[in-house]
Amino acid sequence: MGNNILYVEDNPDNMLLVQRALESRGYKLLKAENGLKGVTMAEAEEVDLILLDINLPDIDGYEVARRIRSSAKHALAYVPIIAVTANALKGDAEKALAAGCDVYMSKPINIRELWARVEAFVPSPLNK
Ligand code: MN
Repeated sequence: MGNNILYVEDNPDNMLLVQRALESRGYKLLKAENGLKGVTMAEAEEVDLILLDINLPDIDGYEVARRIRSSAKHALAYVPIIAVTANALKGDAEKALAAGCDVYMSKPINIRELWARVEAFVPSPLNK
């Protein structure tokens, strides 16, 4: 298992925050700024975990999750997907799980929660 994490996120501030947080723990971040690019990158790259924003400018995160789970690339049936939801109280979380995400976290992103959620699936290279 590698340590490549794909983040599908259209907000540059969140992207930079997560990039800094994960690179400081030794992960490599692959970046997609919309849903279709996220699906394409998941299929083209070796990805060990996906962080998935729900509110995206093209297809939403639920559709991204459904396309990833139904991909012809077999590994994508099992790759961990963490949804990052802005409206956890409005049912986003349940819809994310129904779409194939494994777990969700709420915005604003808490760095310690991010580290814990990611490391639950992909150990930090710094701890090996
Ligand atoms: Mn967004």
